[in-house]
Parts: sequence; structure tokens; C-alpha cells
Amino acid sequence: MSSYPSYPPNLTAEQLSYLITSFTDYSLSHGLIVRPAPTFIPTNPSNSLATPAPVTLWPSPFPRTHFEEARSLQPFCNLLYARVAADQSWLGDLSTSLSLVDDFISKLWAIHTRLKSENGYHHKYSLGLFRSDYMVHTSDSEFAPLGIRQVEFNTIASSFGALASKVSDLHRYLWRSGAYPPTADYINDLSLPRNEALERLAEGLAKAHEVYIQDVSPDAKYTLETAASVGPNSSYGIMFVIQDGERNAFDQRWLEYHLTQKYGIRVFRVTFEEIRKYTHHVRPNYELLFVPPHAFDGRKQQVYEISVVYYRAGYGPGDYPGQEEWNTRYFLEESRAIKCPTILTQLAGSKKVQQVLAEKKNLEKFMGNERGEEGIVERIFETFAAIYPMDESEAGLKARKLAFEEPHRFVLKPQREGGGNNIYKDKIPEFLRGLEEEKWQGYILMELIRPPEVENLVMRNGEMMQGKVVGELGVYGAVVWKDAEDGEPGDIDIVYNEEAGVLLRTKGSSSEEGGVAAGFGCVDSCVLVD
Ligand code: ADP
Ligand code: MG
Repeated sequence: MSSYPSYPPNLTAEQLSYLITSFTDYSLSHGLIVRPAPTFIPTNPSNSLATPAPVTLWPSPFPRTHFEEARSLQPFCNLLYARVAADQSWLGDLSTSLSLVDDFISKLWAIHTRLKSENGYHHKYSLGLFRSDYMVHTSDSEFAPLGIRQVEFNTIASSFGALASKVSDLHRYLWRSGAYPPTADYINDLSLPRNEALERLAEGLAKAHEVYIQDVSPDAKYTLETAASVGPNSSYGIMFVIQDGERNAFDQRWLEYHLTQKYGIRVFRVTFEEIRKYTHHVRPNYELLFVPPHAFDGRKQQVYEISVVYYRAGYGPGDYPGQEEWNTRYFLEESRAIKCPTILTQLAGSKKVQQVLAEKKNLEKFMGNERGEEGIVERIFETFAAIYPMDESEAGLKARKLAFEEPHRFVLKPQREGGGNNIYKDKIPEFLRGLEEEKWQGYILMELIRPPEVENLVMRNGEMMQGKVVGELGVYGAVVWKDAEDGEPGDIDIVYNEEAGVLLRTKGSSSEEGGVAAGFGCVDSCVLVD
């Protein structure tokens, strides 16, 4: 299999039926599931019905060299974005100019400036659970992959790590159990890499938990190694900030189960509204205390000190319907708990930062002095597609022209996360015409990456769809760092910095967006091609 094979192999009716039964039962018995959409199952008593997550029946071919390059770059990408987040003045310049045209960025940035002018920050460490998303780029005429190009870098609520690990296990099981036919001999232990995203993301959270307790209570001599036995008596816990009615709850639950079972760490899933009701700070150090209503037996109330606030919500305006929610975010940001991410780290993940870093001199500013890592700037830079500002700079004026003259080559992106926000190709001119010109600078214009198409089958709600698909490889990173006092880049102390597994998301090749939760794509795994 030296290039993309004719894929997937043809099956007899009996083989296909056996494969689908094996696939579905494995998914259901291993929690590779999501809550069904209300339109799919109108009533869901006690929220007890679930459905297999949308997953490909076969792993999709992915070039091994590019897979390995993306993974080996991840610790450097972690470092890059941790440094950006620590450089308050650099990030401040970008955020203040964006604030003029983007209300969401403005409100995030206002939390930072208010904190600086009032009581200041109280956390010492930050946690990043990042995901750098790539597509393989091909040339116009050739199918041959040219390299990987970064689609975006996520610094908040990077999801699907747990389900991605389970899809990798599922595809390996289908091979090992003989549900894939022996003719598909290029699917084997060597071409199906084990994906440890679940374990590694949980380890990142656990590491931050350990760092927090060691900092606030050095005499306790707390370590993760001894924690498992102490677990149930511990007065510390991790808070997952979640959305009400989350359909992808099991992806989050798996992280919780791993934290509880392997490390003995308690996890609390709370919405913004519950945070308002059940948490408070202790002055002068602003420890965040959580008083769970379920932990009151009529006489005694258990209280937990929150070590880490892990956001699986809060990344878009929809999570902040009113000032109450913004006040809650401020309240959490002000606390001593380690945030994953902080407001500054969230802002570092904006599309604007990605565009600015795609100018080599800016990348060099943060990564130019990487001792012992010759050529790291070039290697990272190689993964960047062309991205232009839409402001009134020279590059911005060029982009404005391109957007009208050659829109089919581009995607226009606002400063938003979570899918469904971008404007593609020929819709760009009309969209821009409908928007006041002052607002254009809130967008970036990015060259479209051309991923290779492969054939695969997707199982969604029990139905099979076959067709041409394209994949997007996400590489997770987990990083814990000590924040710089004065915001100088390079001042941060890295405590933990690891690549943390992968996600392959696959979508129909005619669909522009690829989000799984947004209903455009599905979870896949890689079969590596040499
Ligand atoms: P979001 O924050 O909403 O996830 P993304 O930048 O990841 O925004 O874009 C959403 C989707 O749009 C991606 O998953 C990908 O499928 C597609 N996309 C984004 N940028 C490009 C690009 N430059 N070339 C091709 N497809 C892209
Ligand atoms: Mg994305």
C-alpha cells in the first residue's frame, strides 16, 4: 500500500452484516455513545437512552510521516501557545483592537482588564488541554500529499479525545476479531496506532490537580502515586464546567471515570447556574470552595476545594445569555483554582492569533530561541496555510481584494469556536457586502486546504452511508505552566508538557464543515500508509 489504496475493501452481504453487528455491539458496550438528538428520540425518560456516536466503519488511510510529524510538533505547539497566553501586552494589543469590532472578544478581554485593576489574579499555574487540527494538503493535479496544514488551534473545550481513543480500540478490535476480512491485510497492529488521548488528557488534568495541592498544602506531601488510596477522603476535586443538555456528555464522563478510578480524584459536573448557587471564595487567597447539594446528609455538609476548573462550556456567546454568566466567569477567573483555560489562554486560541503567528517574524518572536531544537520554527511554519488579516494593513488590503476576486480559494472566519460559523468560497463576497466595512477586521481570510478524498462508510444513528470523505487530524497536547508575573515571553516555567493522543474526524467531502457535535462529521481512526 504505497499510496491511497482502493478503499475500503468490498464485502459480501454476510461479511457486511457481521461487521455491522460487531461494530454496533462494541460501540454500545464500550460507551462509544452520545445522547440522541431530541428530534431523533422525542422522549428520553431519565435521560437513559443513548445511541452509538457517529463513527466510520473502517479506519481512514493517513500518511504515516505526516501523522508522526504532527505528533512530534505538539510539545512545541503547546509551548508556543502557553507563551502567547503569558504575553499580556502582545495579546492585549490584538485583543483591544478586536474588541472594537467583536463583542465576545471584548467581554473576555474586559474580564482580564477588570481583574488586573481590582483584586488581581490568584492562580499560580495554568493548564492547557489543546488540540492542533490539521488536514493533509494535496496539489491541484496530484493526489500525492504535499504535507500537513493546520486548520486551527483549539485552546478551550477541545473535545472528542475519549471517544477518539475508543474508536481506535474499536477498529483494532474489528481487525483482531476477524470482522475485517483477511484480504484487508494492510489493516494490522503496525498500521493501527493505539490512541491514548483519553489516558493522556486525564493525566494532564491529574497533573494540574497534583501541582495545585502541592502548592496550597506542601505539608500534605500529596502525589498522584499515593492519591488513589486517599481519594474518597480527599477534600479536593476537579470541576467540569458543562452545558445544560450536553449530548456529548460521555466523552466528558470517560475523563471523569479515568480521574476517579485511576487517580482517586473527585469530579463535579456543574453548569454556570449551579456554580452561582454552590460555590464561594475564601479570602485572602481566593480558594474556590464547592458545596455540592448532594453531599449533605441532613446534618453534615461536605465541602470541596476546587483544584482545577476544566471548561467544556464557555467558548461561545451562547453560553453567556446575560451578565450573570459573565459575572460567573469573572468569579472563576479570580479564584485560586487552576483554569483550563484561563481567559488569556482562551484568547490565545482565537483565529486572529493564528493568523498573526502565520507571519514568520511573529512565530520567531515566540519560538526563535528554542535551544537544542534546530529548525523548529521552520517545521511549525511549514504546517501553516496562508492566512490574511482583513484589516487596513497592506496584507489586509490584499486580502480584501482576493476575497472578492478569487473567493473560491478561501474560507472567511470570525473569532468563534464550535463549528458552523465560517463563510466559504463564493458566499464570501455577498457576506462581506452585507457587513459594515469597519467590522471586516474581526475576520481572517484563510486559503482552503485540499485534503485527499478517500471512500469510507459512516454509521450514524444505525444507518450506513457510503461515499467520499476527507479527514482532519487533531493532535492533543497537555501542558501545565507557571504564569509569568510580568508577562515576558519565556518567563513561564513548564511543569509538564506532553503530546496527548489524536483525533481523526471525517466528513463527507462535499461538506465544508467537519464538526462532529455540530452534526457535520464523525469520529474515525487512522490506518497509517507508508
Ligand atoms: P471551528 O472553530 O468552528 O471549529 P475551524 O477553523 O476548525 O472552526 O473550521 C471548521 C471546519 O471548517 C474545519 O473543521 C474544516 O472542516 C473546515 N475548514 C476550516 N478551515 C479550512 C481550510 N483552510 N481549508 C479547508 N477546510 C477548512
Ligand atoms: Mg475546528
